[in-house]
Amino acid sequence: MKCPNCRIKELVVIEMTVGGEQVRLHSCSGCDLRWWETSEGTTSLAGVLDLAAVGR
Ligand SMILES: [Zn+2]
Repeated sequence: MKCPNCRIKELVVIEMTVGGEQVRLHSCSGCDLRWWETSEGTTSLAGVLDLAAVGR
């Protein structure tokens, strides 16, 4: 999947589990765009940290 921002680089997708929730980090090495995605949709880093806090 190409970066929707710069349309040059391929996105790097990193999957991990945070607080029992599957989380995907999409990252572009070209323009430094990045966003997080959970089963609920796109979220911010703060949203991911919330998951981590709840999942203790
Ligand atoms: Zn990009």
